[in-house]
Amino acid sequence: EAVVHWFKRDLRTHDNKGLSLAGQLAKKYNIPLIAMFIVSPQDYQAHFTSPPRVDFELRTLEVLKRDLGEKDIPLFVETVEDRKTVPARLLELFEKWGAKHVFCNIEYEVDELRREAKMTKKCLERGIDFTAVHDDVVVAPGQLHTQQGKQFSVYSPWSRAWIAHLHANPDMLNAFEAPGQNPPTARERFKDIFDTPIPSAPENKKLSEEERKRFTHLWPAGEHEALERLERFLNQKIGVYKSTRNFPAANSTAMLSVHHSAGTLAARTAVRSARDVNSTKKLDGGNEGIKGWISEVAWRDFYKHVLSHWPYVCMHKPFKYEYTNIEWEYDADLFDKWCRGVTGFPIVDAAMRQLNHMGYMHNRCRMIVASFLAKDLLIDWRMGERYFMEHLIDGDFASNNGGWGFSASTGVDPQPYFRIFNPLLQSEKFDAEGDYIRKWVPELAEVEGKAVHDPYGRGAGVVAERNGYPRPVVDHKESRGRALKRYKDGLGRE
Ligand code: FAD
Repeated sequence: EAVVHWFKRDLRTHDNKGLSLAGQLAKKYNIPLIAMFIVSPQDYQAHFTSPPRVDFELRTLEVLKRDLGEKDIPLFVETVEDRKTVPARLLELFEKWGAKHVFCNIEYEVDELRREAKMTKKCLERGIDFTAVHDDVVVAPGQLHTQQGKQFSVYSPWSRAWIAHLHANPDMLNAFEAPGQNPPTARERFKDIFDTPIPSAPENKKLSEEERKRFTHLWPAGEHEALERLERFLNQKIGVYKSTRNFPAANSTAMLSVHHSAGTLAARTAVRSARDVNSTKKLDGGNEGIKGWISEVAWRDFYKHVLSHWPYVCMHKPFKYEYTNIEWEYDADLFDKWCRGVTGFPIVDAAMRQLNHMGYMHNRCRMIVASFLAKDLLIDWRMGERYFMEHLIDGDFASNNGGWGFSASTGVDPQPYFRIFNPLLQSEKFDAEGDYIRKWVPELAEVEGKAVHDPYGRGAGVVAERNGYPRPVVDHKESRGRALKRYKDGLGRE
């Protein structure tokens, strides 16, 4: 007999509910715990998962295999080419291992939920107990209601309810204990699993040698790295987070999103740790930076709540269905310029180049480039959403979809459509010294002063031209007018 934990986007041993429950049961019956993970190239393809993200997962699995191995817990990792055969393959393995209990943590996307439902049924038919638990979010979807008993579709009241719920149930933030040592016989019995290396990335998601080095250097993988980063952030930066978080050159945010999204860090761990360094020992009050940071982590929960209550957002539909009729431009050349960061708008170009180089972009810049694509270029926000998933190392369906919906004004609790970011003003406000632009747009590195925000409009055109920096692809004032009209027309055609 054996107990199995099926890892998905929860690649850690600390504070992992499903894994912890599996470990407790294995200990109770004194039977081995087996951990497993399926590499599914078709799932990666279907979800537009970026190659750096796949690489990050595989590097994390190496760490996990080592850590679990120290407890004689085998980690079985296998590539299954045809995603439709994953459930059958799982059942085959459970039977082979004599597993009567299987645990996993719930993923809220539609495909994943369907697969879990199927597994629950199939396992039941075979007398296997399949338990999928809430772990990815701090407060599970469905627990919070408005006073009228409805689901929240606005963040502020939702977050007040989220905080109140956690203050009323402080145990919800307690850590789940890591699994203990397997019985000594496990090493011999599962020798083949211990001896099998982690597979390499599927062909469709392979990085070049240079990319692999770059991403390994930028984003060391695994939960130890996540916990160290969290610790450093709490010790050094969280206190001033509120006043510094919007400035991309400040390097003042936690840079933990990749860990939340791969599950090397639980949102619960992050929120509990921040609470514990707050003078109030609460999620609100006390230090403004701590309070502000917790509320950002809460946004992550909010978007998962949205995804699970309005699953049509998974099907390329805007949350606000009345925005279905906007007439988008599908200009391939402009889209390509946006992707490559050659729009002639320095802040937009810097941000896109940061994304292309790091697999990451600062939050303020994500909003700027998303607004620019949807409103200045009037290109379907779903093309940008997809490009982000294809390039972000922290790509997360719910947060990405939520962020795009916010910026394009089509999502839940969005920016009103008539509030259109002016890229120049955003640039001057949030990158006042131009340091972020100069870092990512080398053509403008020698441009001094405020001209860096708009080289052709502010007398630095000669330098910009000499260095091959493009002129702006649109006139913001004109595009603003066009966007307002299109959005209004779209709404009129309900
Ligand atoms: P910090 O500022 O230190 O915040 C701490 C944590 O809170 C983050 O790690 C993240 O887990 C969470 N968080 C912070 N802001 C948000 C937010 N607005 N929405 C949801 N969660 C948040 N985040 C992703 O993790 N994956 C995505 O694919 C993603 N796509 C986005 C697309 C757009 C268009 C926008 C506007 C935002 C997107 N975000 C996404 C949210 C946000 O930009 C990143 O989470 C943040 O920049 C990560 O950096 P950090 O870890 O330093 O964040």
